[in-house]
Amino acid sequence: MLSVKQKKHISSHTKCRGCGKRMLLNSSKYCFYCAKLAKRLHNEHFRAKARKYFWAYLHKRGRRCHYSGILLEIDDDTSPWYLVFSRLDPADKAKIVPAAAFLNEMKSSLSEKEFWYYVLALDDHREKHLKVKKIPLVHWQVGSSTGDKVCAGCWRAPALKGRKFCARCARIAFRMKHDRLFRECINEIWDYVRKYGFVCYYTGMPLELDDPKSPWYLVFDHWMPRDPRKIVITSSLLNEMKSDLTEKEFWYFIRQLANFRRHGSVVRKRKLAYWCRPYR
Ligand SMILES: [Zn+2]
Ligand SMILES: [Zn+2]
Repeated sequence: MLSVKQKKHISSHTKCRGCGKRMLLNSSKYCFYCAKLAKRLHNEHFRAKARKYFWAYLHKRGRRCHYSGILLEIDDDTSPWYLVFSRLDPADKAKIVPAAAFLNEMKSSLSEKEFWYYVLALDDHREKHLKVKKIPLVHWQVGSSTGDKVCAGCWRAPALKGRKFCARCARIAFRMKHDRLFRECINEIWDYVRKYGFVCYYTGMPLELDDPKSPWYLVFDHWMPRDPRKIVITSSLLNEMKSDLTEKEFWYFIRQLANFRRHGSVVRKRKLAYWCRPYR
């Protein structure tokens, strides 16, 4: 039912800013359907250029799938025909078109040209038994075949669905955030992990990621005591042992202790740069 206020305006019409269709004047610039799309475009953080491109497209062709011409579903996001915003070219953030959800999945990270090439080649293969000739895919990445993104941490495992990291890295990422490590430190730790895996910076030993009670549990260590600019990963045990020593001091005393233990040689004292606290 229309309210009294809306009835007053019942004769005045306007054009939807999205699809351009005639609609009743109301508080929104968009018609019922386009208002929903506008909200999603906003929520999904498309840039102004892309939104403009999308509306121009809709204005011309309506809510139809770019790849199939089918009229798309707006409300039911479980439908394969649900309207999603599809990039024509994965690298071009400015060009998005409406597409059916499942066709957009099929297109995955192919450019439009590549997509059509393979659609036709597959069809020829199926219908005429022609061999599918390979063409190079410009934007293909590991894991894109399953729609999975690669973990932003280790770059090895697939990321959890809808997340940036794999399960393992997600926990590490959370802990780094929780410990308020500097952004540069976080980046350096990921670089390190990609290169060497989850191994101790000082010893190269593999670290335990799950059990916080383990002496080999991964912890973040100030490379220089109390200096937040360089953080490395090490085991809980080594972190304890190293305490307020620098890396150099630490190895120095390890050597000294080992020699003492093995050969009974005297441990030579050395001034410690950062040790200025009462023993706890
Ligand atoms: Zn509209
Ligand atoms: Zn990972």
